[in-house]
Amino acid sequence: DSGDCFIGFDLGTSGARISIVEKQSAQSDSKSKWDYAEVFAAALSWDDILHFDDAYDWRSAVDALLMRAREDVPDVMARVKAMCVSGTSATCLLLEKGTLDVSRVARMYNFDVLANSEGGQKKSKSGKSSAERVMDLIDEYVPDKHTARATTGSLAKLLLWNEEDPLVDDEGNVKEMLCHQSDYISLSLMYGGVDKEGCLVSSDWHNCLKLGYDVRNLSYPDWMVQLLKEGAKIPSPTDVLPSKVVSPGEPMGAISSVVASKYGLPTETVMVGGTTDSNAAFFAAAGAKPDYGLAVTSLGSTVALKQLSSTYVEDASKGVYSHRFPRFGSSDGHEEAWLIGGASNVGCAVLRQEEFSNDELVELSSEIDPATDSPLSYYPLTKKGERFPVADSEKEPVLDPKPDDRKEYLHGILQAIGDVERDGYRTLGELGATPNRPTEILTCGGGSKNDMWTALRERRLRDICDGDQRIIVKKAMNTEASYGAALLAAASFE
Ligand code: ADP
Repeated sequence: DSGDCFIGFDLGTSGARISIVEKQSAQSDSKSKWDYAEVFAAALSWDDILHFDDAYDWRSAVDALLMRAREDVPDVMARVKAMCVSGTSATCLLLEKGTLDVSRVARMYNFDVLANSEGGQKKSKSGKSSAERVMDLIDEYVPDKHTARATTGSLAKLLLWNEEDPLVDDEGNVKEMLCHQSDYISLSLMYGGVDKEGCLVSSDWHNCLKLGYDVRNLSYPDWMVQLLKEGAKIPSPTDVLPSKVVSPGEPMGAISSVVASKYGLPTETVMVGGTTDSNAAFFAAAGAKPDYGLAVTSLGSTVALKQLSSTYVEDASKGVYSHRFPRFGSSDGHEEAWLIGGASNVGCAVLRQEEFSNDELVELSSEIDPATDSPLSYYPLTKKGERFPVADSEKEPVLDPKPDDRKEYLHGILQAIGDVERDGYRTLGELGATPNRPTEILTCGGGSKNDMWTALRERRLRDICDGDQRIIVKKAMNTEASYGAALLAAASFE
């Protein structure tokens, strides 16, 4: 109903942020029946007071943000229906089984098992370090090229903890349970302050992808159970894993009464399944219910593409994988949607390398005609090696010949980055995306500010269209992960 409010949190790489959105009344001139307005937002930087790898500090950050909201917009807080948390991908920790007590300090998204193994000194009888034993287990059990093989993934982090100090006691009873950053905040809001025995971790499709959860069959795969049972000697593997894995945005349970009264929230407020930061940014740009074919291109230091497809697409050699996308209110509840994506090593970083200041970019771009092609054909990498749309670790940057005119040089570079984007979408289509090309592309990141470039990209994207079709390219209105999380909180309440 109009007036209902929804809260989204983002625990990001640089800080924590809250957004509260309010459902607006039906707009006759709008295609979408309902719109959401952001009625409150606040942010905290990890630099100021907090440690970004301390779970209790994440809670303090969320507490401070909720207190600010309570002070500034108490009437909004009284109308909140649901909350959703976005966290950094593969950031996880261990809790004492059935409690909110942290037993092992968080391993952040960029923690690499190979580089950070504290057990490096601790060799087993075989002479191998903990990290080496983890790698052996992954090699033996995890399917080739699976995302869960990543040494920064939550599965590798879990296995390393178990190698350093087993998660089960001598009787084989599980002592600890795995929890992602976003799961932990949701759990603390659902169980905080109440002495509830046996709290169990609920997680979601997005956070569990890098853990190895099978998002197509919606279960933990057999190889994973075997790995934990035989390889890691955990007799009841599912006891250490999130006990429930829901769709992002799906209600998981009500917040605790203590939390409700502390922040002036209704006791019926529910926590919904969370998501990860880059998916939350997609929700922010595209809304929680986009049409198939909607895409978001991020033109930051590197180029990253995401497109909503009704078919699953995967090519691990090119770093292409699919996140399962929630489908709210689909007719039979089983309609599938996939957020497929790939990331190139090409991007705006090359503009910095070639010493284009942001002012110069604006000035020179205004002199370029987006209706004309540059005769230059570059491949604007900053160093050797490409992942997507072609996987080639030997691929060299091409930035020759270099014209004397800076404007012409820029024209060549921007055209070349745009062509990588175009070829990326073409590749996603060839790998089986449905529809096989985007219908509309929303742009975020530093390069999205450049309207000339938007027009240039849109024109060059016609190469992958049939006849007089065209792909509309626009700047995304909002890409804040906290806003995306708030939209996700709202989605199942329509
Ligand atoms: P990051 O991926 O590092 O977060 P951003 O999304 O902040 O990067 O984007 C910054 C990049 O955007 C810089 O490399 C910069 O050169 C580029 N950029 C900034 N302004 C423009 C512009 N007007 N046109 C094209 N690129 C731009």
